Amino acid sequence: MVRQAYAAFFDDLRIPWLTADASSGAMGGTLSHEYHVPSKKGEDRVFTCDGSCGYSANEELAVRGDDGLGNTISLPYTSMSELLSFPSCQDSGLRRDFYMTSDKQKLIVVITPFRSGQESSSINLHQLKRIPQLDKLDAGVENALDSFRNQLLMLQSNGNMGQNLNVTFILDKMIRYDSSESEFVSINGMQISATVEKSTLDLVRIDNGDKCPTEHCEYGRLQVQDCIELGHTFFLGTRYSSTLDATVSLPNAGLRQPSSQVEASEVPLQMGCHGIGISRIVASAADVFKDEKGLNWPRKMAPFEVVIIAERSWKEQAREVYDALQQSESSIDCVIDDRDASPGSKMKDAELIGYPVIVRIGQSWLDTPKKCLVRCRRPTTFDEDVPVASLKSTVLQLLETL
Ligand SMILES: [Zn+2]
Repeated sequence: MVRQAYAAFFDDLRIPWLTADASSGAMGGTLSHEYHVPSKKGEDRVFTCDGSCGYSANEELAVRGDDGLGNTISLPYTSMSELLSFPSCQDSGLRRDFYMTSDKQKLIVVITPFRSGQESSSINLHQLKRIPQLDKLDAGVENALDSFRNQLLMLQSNGNMGQNLNVTFILDKMIRYDSSESEFVSINGMQISATVEKSTLDLVRIDNGDKCPTEHCEYGRLQVQDCIELGHTFFLGTRYSSTLDATVSLPNAGLRQPSSQVEASEVPLQMGCHGIGISRIVASAADVFKDEKGLNWPRKMAPFEVVIIAERSWKEQAREVYDALQQSESSIDCVIDDRDASPGSKMKDAELIGYPVIVRIGQSWLDTPKKCLVRCRRPTTFDEDVPVASLKSTVLQLLETL
């Protein structure tokens, strides 16, 4: 029901939106969906299938299908020191990335298959953080290996031998490594304990053109879009209401069982958290529909649907057009720009402000029959003189598309 309501709301605004499966995070719950508008200015990445399966997930949750092209790589090294020093490049087919935990106690070395074209930030951090001991990973540390070395130097100068430090090698699911016993690696002349974690996760960042993960979606490929998140729905179910004993008495059964023999029952409340970013919607619509002349508000968001522009001395004519648009049911929300300015500059302002439809009373008013210029810039350009008698129906038709 909530998803239907959100869909109807965003449809009504006529902005291009999409939903993505999302993680419920610490809130818990079983269902979570984000509502996005694609925009180059967006900071969220949403992956959608270009086939017909309807797959759409945010970066946190997205996974890629197995296209059978990747090969398992057996590491040709037997010691962990070698894992720290092998060449990370296309030739070796292997890539090594360094991270640190926020307590600076652990150096994380992630080893993945090398994928050309993914020179920087090629690790799927959302997947990486799913590994239990990596929840304290600090992905913001630049040059984590250097930072870890500096940490060692500082400890050394204090006489500490780095007993609490650890180097953990995390291997992508495509990497095989046979020697997995705990060892030590030498960094800055200090022996640091080291372990290898063979992950079952796909740690390489998902990219455009990767296979869709939906079963039976054979040819679907993932497309990544930068998006602005406009809304989020979490269905919490009874996770909190059961614990808090928040129940409701349902005079239920009478409806389904005509005999009304069943007494009302106490059931836990179904809970959800739902939010819409009102100011983001305004900013997104401004961004998505703008053109070289100015803004272009969707009908439902525009303060006025139509602006009427005329010569200063043509107040009566402006009033006549206003009344023509207001008459009978389905009146149109109009405003007359009666400022002391030239019609030309009022036109420019109207286009800049982004009224959905502009009606200008000018030379064609002197025609027989009287006409007005009607202008609308999207979805397709409309710029025609329209007889006053058919003005309202023409404007309503245009507004229907906005
Ligand atoms: Zn698909």
